[in-house]
Amino acid sequence: MDLILASQSITRRRILDAARIDARFMSPKIDEENITKSLIADQALPRDIADTLAEHKALKISRKNLDSLVIGCDQILVFEGEIFGKPASPEALKDMLSRLSGQTHRLVTANVIYKDGKPMWRHVAISHMSMRTITSNEIDAYIEAHWPDVKHSAGGYHFERTPDLFSSVRGNWFDIMGLSIDPILRFLNQHQAGNPFQIPRLAAVLGHPIAQSKSPLMHGHWLKKNQISGDYIAIDIPPMRFNTTVRMLFDVGFSGFNVTIPHKEQALAFADDMTPRARRIGAANTLIKRDSGKISADNTDGYGFMTNLASQNSAWNPSAGPSLVLGAGGAARAILVALLEAGVPKIYLCNRTRARAEDLAADISDCIEVIDWEDKQGVLPDVFTVVNATSLGMIGKPPLEIDLTNLNPDALVTDLIYAPLETQLLKDARTRGCEVVSGIGMLLHQGVPGFEAWFGHRPAVDEELEALVLT
Ligand code: NAP
Repeated sequence: MDLILASQSITRRRILDAARIDARFMSPKIDEENITKSLIADQALPRDIADTLAEHKALKISRKNLDSLVIGCDQILVFEGEIFGKPASPEALKDMLSRLSGQTHRLVTANVIYKDGKPMWRHVAISHMSMRTITSNEIDAYIEAHWPDVKHSAGGYHFERTPDLFSSVRGNWFDIMGLSIDPILRFLNQHQAGNPFQIPRLAAVLGHPIAQSKSPLMHGHWLKKNQISGDYIAIDIPPMRFNTTVRMLFDVGFSGFNVTIPHKEQALAFADDMTPRARRIGAANTLIKRDSGKISADNTDGYGFMTNLASQNSAWNPSAGPSLVLGAGGAARAILVALLEAGVPKIYLCNRTRARAEDLAADISDCIEVIDWEDKQGVLPDVFTVVNATSLGMIGKPPLEIDLTNLNPDALVTDLIYAPLETQLLKDARTRGCEVVSGIGMLLHQGVPGFEAWFGHRPAVDEELEALVLT
């Protein structure tokens, strides 16, 4: 089946990619402005305007590509009976966003399919978008940050990048993105032989900031490699908008999320239920929507850490003796729980800010002994595992200063940091004859349970994935 999408929109292409559909992309030139004007003069309804524009685009491509199925799309924004086009200038965008602030508008998404210059199928979806009240200063900051991206979109916003602009939405993610993939797939499945296309499932990583996250690369690789219909994106959500935005994203069709700094505690509180390990750690890095509609929270950091240790060093024996954990932040909390659950009899916990380590120890177990930051070298002859869970030694951060001369050569040393892949700590430990494990495997393994829950397939952690994430 030769399929053409009569649109150059990257978002719409991405939806077809997510559905594992091979298509060509063509950009039809039509006189959108004049067609719209004459339809408005004829008092056409917004849904008819969007449908007619989608039809013009499909027809133009279809006439030159007989035998191909051509999808035409159009989307218009309607507020108080007025159609909002693309903003012509930052001032026009400011005016649009000021009017939409605190109000509900409609996004009308029209899709048509043509073949041999004739219509075969059409669909119109209407999404109701309620924007929260946005102050004038916030609008100025939004325009400053997003103008180059949003100047080509109706209404002047990108829901996928800044969903926190909205307080609630009644609609479906793909309709809002401009391509109603569910009904399109139903049509295509009726008109093609072979395996039916599956409706893409959706997941995302949520953080603030989030641009540095490797998760989209990792999950994107697993989706592609396993030919799974689905998409995984990164969304930046400011902390005070977390609950509303996550609720809304679940409502528009997301199956779940990875959650990173600073949302891990809020994510746990947001969920309807949680795994014992998430409860014990007191933070969640994974949210999953169950078939019942309930949201479950999990924390897979400790699982990732342990699976990585086991896969890199099968001889590691947790019960051989005490461990030393450096750091008392969010990652250290998960590591402490994981080590104790694996059978480590005692943990020395050492953090620059001693009070933070004491709070953590009091919260988790009396098998944890807090020691001063200056005393970390003193326990080295005693320990069988050393874990760096501080940010020291990471590219751009100060080095971790620790002399390993007295470290037991049978000890295993692991660093949560993976940039650089081999930290100075690991280099020194290797020189001392110790086994070493880098942090990259933890990152890769912690993603496995979430991917399996959202996309229904347990993915493999292998060298190909590691190389990809390290590029
Ligand atoms: P966090 O909550 O911000 O904690 C940072 C830790 O580093 C704290 O213990 C902090 O001590 C310590 N620290 C920072 N600067 C220091 C300095 N100059 N001197 C001494 N200690 C210092 O961060 P996190 O989420 O726990 O993450 C910790 C590290 O693990 C990060 O490098 C992160 O990238 C890495 N990580 C890796 C993975 C993975 O999958 N491999 C997963 C999670 C985290 P204070 O309490 O005294 O501030």
